[in-house]
Amino acid sequence: MDLNLLLESLREDPAFIKNVTYWGVSRKKKPEYSPLPESLHPILSDYLKKSGIKKLYTHQAEAYRAITSQKDTVIVTPTASGKTLAYNLPVLDTLLKDKNSRAIYLFPTKALSQDQIKTIKDVGAEDLRLYIYDGDTPSSVRQIARKEGRLIVTNPDMLHSGILPNHPKWVKIFDGLKYIVIDELHTYRGIFGSHLAHVISRLLRIARFYNSSPIIIATSATIQNPKELFTSITGRDPVLIDKSGAPQGEKHYIIYNPPFVDPQQGIRRGVVLESCRVARRFIEEGYQTIVFARSRLNTEIILSYLKQWIPAKRNQIEGYRGGYLPNERRAIERGLKEGSILGVVSTNALELGIDIGGMDVSIMAGYPGSVASFHQQAGRSGRKVSTSVAILITSNSPLDQYIAAHPEYLIQKSPESALINPKNIYILVDQVKCAAFELPFAENEKLGDEEIADVLEYLEDKNVLHREGGKYHWQERSYPAENISLRSADSGNLVIVDMTDGGRRVIGEVDKASVPVLLYENAIYIHGSQQYIVVKLDWDKQVAYVEQSRVNYYTDAETKTDIKILQHNKEEDARAYRVFLSDVLVRTVAVKYKKIKFGTHENVGFGDINLPPTEMHTRGLILGFSHELFGGLERDEREKLLVSISHLLQNIAPLYVMTDLRDIGVAENLKQPVIELPSVILYDRYPGGIGLSDRLFEIKATLLVAAAERVSECECENGCPSCVGPERYNKDLVKKFFQDVITRSIY
Ligand SMILES: [Zn+2]
Repeated sequence: MDLNLLLESLREDPAFIKNVTYWGVSRKKKPEYSPLPESLHPILSDYLKKSGIKKLYTHQAEAYRAITSQKDTVIVTPTASGKTLAYNLPVLDTLLKDKNSRAIYLFPTKALSQDQIKTIKDVGAEDLRLYIYDGDTPSSVRQIARKEGRLIVTNPDMLHSGILPNHPKWVKIFDGLKYIVIDELHTYRGIFGSHLAHVISRLLRIARFYNSSPIIIATSATIQNPKELFTSITGRDPVLIDKSGAPQGEKHYIIYNPPFVDPQQGIRRGVVLESCRVARRFIEEGYQTIVFARSRLNTEIILSYLKQWIPAKRNQIEGYRGGYLPNERRAIERGLKEGSILGVVSTNALELGIDIGGMDVSIMAGYPGSVASFHQQAGRSGRKVSTSVAILITSNSPLDQYIAAHPEYLIQKSPESALINPKNIYILVDQVKCAAFELPFAENEKLGDEEIADVLEYLEDKNVLHREGGKYHWQERSYPAENISLRSADSGNLVIVDMTDGGRRVIGEVDKASVPVLLYENAIYIHGSQQYIVVKLDWDKQVAYVEQSRVNYYTDAETKTDIKILQHNKEEDARAYRVFLSDVLVRTVAVKYKKIKFGTHENVGFGDINLPPTEMHTRGLILGFSHELFGGLERDEREKLLVSISHLLQNIAPLYVMTDLRDIGVAENLKQPVIELPSVILYDRYPGGIGLSDRLFEIKATLLVAAAERVSECECENGCPSCVGPERYNKDLVKKFFQDVITRSIY
């Protein structure tokens, strides 16, 4: 059946259409072209003509002009609009024309760099001397790359620990460095992005040392603040290119909210099965379909259902996720491009720019967590001429339900900001160490835009640096970057060692703060779908010893969190509530754990946890509500109300800050000792903070309105996990509370 007809039949199918909360169609878009730049190097124009490209899309031509006139540039156009070519052309052009010029490409993942270099290799110019430099590069190749490389493709981790600390070996690269390309800029947020900002400062500092001043080019998915993110990571103000000239066939966007099974309890049909049902209709008809699952486990479940339900096509349906071998993945990517694979179930591993061609249908089993991810996953379906469709199947979570009721949030301009916090003191200190190892610091020198005089003095006190001749020099033996991970704020991680069958195999690391909830003795720890039981936790040596196990339960720790306000940085009084942005000390202690049976979720036992409390300095947003909002409620009721409020706020917050729910901690306090009001505290779950609370302080009123909307719009009768939370506290009271907050607030 023709896809348009199939969509028409879905529209007329009452069982389907009654669950659709949004169905929008973006009209077919014609391509807009610009001629190939006349100044383009003949090797490149020949290559383009050979590949059938006789002209450029307008955004590619615009990027070429901006970049060749030495302007920092950020390119924000949809998936499959030819973003890569937009920066490759000007960069390769320069490399071909100027034999001394060099470039560094940064990709967030190894797979992505492998994929992207294929294009450059196809150009077939020996002169380009392209080398991938990452953890997999053999040492013989590394030497050649350092000596002869002109275009180095790497990732931020390798730049940080392999290239920058060894800059004297990379003289040629730094001498001629003309371009730095940062692909998928929006993926650098939180801790990783905060580190990257300093890594780029270090890179520019070294480039300056060798008298180079490279241009920075980035690509990004659609977020609210691509220019701002570019500036906070690079310190530069870029040209923004965001009008795509690429063509697009007609595209349907559908939001599908699974029907209620129990409206009173607010329980809907599960997102996994419902996604399988929808996917089946398209795959059976022969449409190439990608299903995005929210976890590796769900990927496997959806895959096995689809294979079972569509026996005739079972060999054309594959799974794709981290943990599959690289050659398996390559085979699947090829199969998708060539059309021999009809269905693929993937985690967000296929969300980033790996080239698999355009699919007919993209189905998201649950909101992928951010608008940027939504557009990238939706963008996996899309044909230049023919019709395609993207369907979001929403889950029970408050965030998913908010989106089902507010499709404009997804479809219109993205409201979410990618946030970083280069001022995070833990990150800054670590990065100053790395930079000082690379080149000594002058007394008044900054790192990027950050003032670091205090940090330098502190490191001198600690005998990490010594001052001589007006400069701070590195004086430790060790080499700092090796022990500093860009993916965490605090270098103290705990190592997990698998002792199964008398072995000793390191299977992973966990940040210290998570140990009390994940790795207490007898905890079931799940890693790559394998279960382990923690047999011994050596807190002093920072090692957890585990053994493989097969039990039918998982463990869930109960923690007590106590938050102490150290210092207020900002405050406002909105009459109905007072709000503070503060430095806080979060003290967490795990007291006991429950054993919970898989499937039925029944409680099948418990045990004690004997671990010292952990402490973390971070940033917090404190909302202290006026007593009158709780008028007449018993203590117990007030407590439950506060829990519902914080549940809603925590779950709604990712609408405005691009982050995982787990990055935001919450706590309630009936009478917060410092501000003496019933309070909800939202805090950054990373030492030093990553900018979440700061942003939430700015948008607190919007956040409260969104929470109010969620609870008043929820279709359940008495309160459910999608609105007031798993405790199902009195919905009317929660609703009234938020209405009162909003009507009584003044700004
Ligand atoms: Zn509800």
